[in-house]
Amino acid sequence: MPAFQTSPGMRDILPPDTARWRRLNAVFADVVGAAGYGQIITPLIEDVGVFTRIGEATDVVTKELYAFEDRGGRHVSLRPELTAGVCRAFAQHRPAALPWKVWYTGPNFRQEKAQRGRYRQFDQVGIEVLGVDDAHLDVEVIALASEFYRRLGLSQITLVVNSLGEPEDRAAYVDALAAYFATADLTEQSRSTLEKNPLRVLDSKREHDAAAIAGAPKISEFHSDGAAAHFATVLAGLTRLGIDFVVEPKLVRGLDYYRRTIFEFQGGTLDSAQNALGGGGRYDGLVEALGGPATPGIGFALGVDRTLLACDDEGVFGDDSAPLDAFVVDVVGGQEAVAITAELRAAGFTADRGYDDRSMKAQMKLANRSDARFAVIVGDDELASDSVILRPMARDAGDQQTMSRSDLISHLKAHS
Ligand code: AMP
Repeated sequence: MPAFQTSPGMRDILPPDTARWRRLNAVFADVVGAAGYGQIITPLIEDVGVFTRIGEATDVVTKELYAFEDRGGRHVSLRPELTAGVCRAFAQHRPAALPWKVWYTGPNFRQEKAQRGRYRQFDQVGIEVLGVDDAHLDVEVIALASEFYRRLGLSQITLVVNSLGEPEDRAAYVDALAAYFATADLTEQSRSTLEKNPLRVLDSKREHDAAAIAGAPKISEFHSDGAAAHFATVLAGLTRLGIDFVVEPKLVRGLDYYRRTIFEFQGGTLDSAQNALGGGGRYDGLVEALGGPATPGIGFALGVDRTLLACDDEGVFGDDSAPLDAFVVDVVGGQEAVAITAELRAAGFTADRGYDDRSMKAQMKLANRSDARFAVIVGDDELASDSVILRPMARDAGDQQTMSRSDLISHLKAHS
């Protein structure tokens, strides 16, 4: 056992697995880039206040922050999510052109109990749009996440939507829920959640709470006319785009600032405790709480780790890393391989080589294992005549040929 291992909930992502991460990010960047979103990169560390503004009633803030005092005595934290940092950036830079559409990718940190699909460092991709209140934007945002999953090849995804109404609707609903749950039969944990945030009691997956939750009042009974119309427009837009959805009145999600539309994407192959692949919603007041002007916002964050687990389960989005173009075998000391691999790479080919002046046989074994299309071989004769042997590695790809060093690149270009 080595002296050091990754800390609990932290993982190394090794090659070739990293190729899938890069591809997932590329698909996401393509999907949102085509809709006019620009990439934003915010710091991993922010003033802890940026995150406590998300809401005191979420575990993410109360229990899971990696908060500490830096050497200058500032109270800072590793970011547990990206929305708050984006809103802080908006408040700080005040972009003039609205809506401000941004996308992001990167790691977040939460001190959670680690298990499959739940880590202490995990990646998200996401978007936020600030400055526009239009229900059609809600449809665009949801549709982009949906298109991302489609492009990955995932099919067992359920989109769950709900509306939390206007802030007053939500407040009236919270009061009604608190009154209802006060006399209901709940678990100890849900009783304590009730004191902090009655909405979150609806999130309980504990069996003992199920009956009480099933009989609870529904948010739709509290929707104002405006909120009901907004939600109807969102649902009509999704229907128009042929995006399947389920309206789930119990969906509440964590953020205290959520209003109107909220949504979640659930993976059909994952355990129910980790089946949320991603989600988001419309929020107000967050930019304001971070020192900016009152600004409507909407966005989502999708978990990269869980999305890849879902891809594994559905057998899609495998490793498509391309084989090498050439593996250079040099049995005359290695300097020729230094030059030829550099030349090949500069010409745009992928090339690797053997090291440690190994035997011809050992280097050919490596060439085979590398899955390269060609071996480029230099022995004493080739060195003397300034030539190389080009040997196709596939069984039925023809015979090897000797050619002048200066013809190698043009020959490969003609055969690629
Ligand atoms: P949230 O920011 O909590 O709404 O989470 C959005 C998505 O990020 C979730 O649906 C997960 O896919 C992912 N996620 C959140 N927390 C974790 C975690 N601890 N480990 C892995 N993925 C996570």
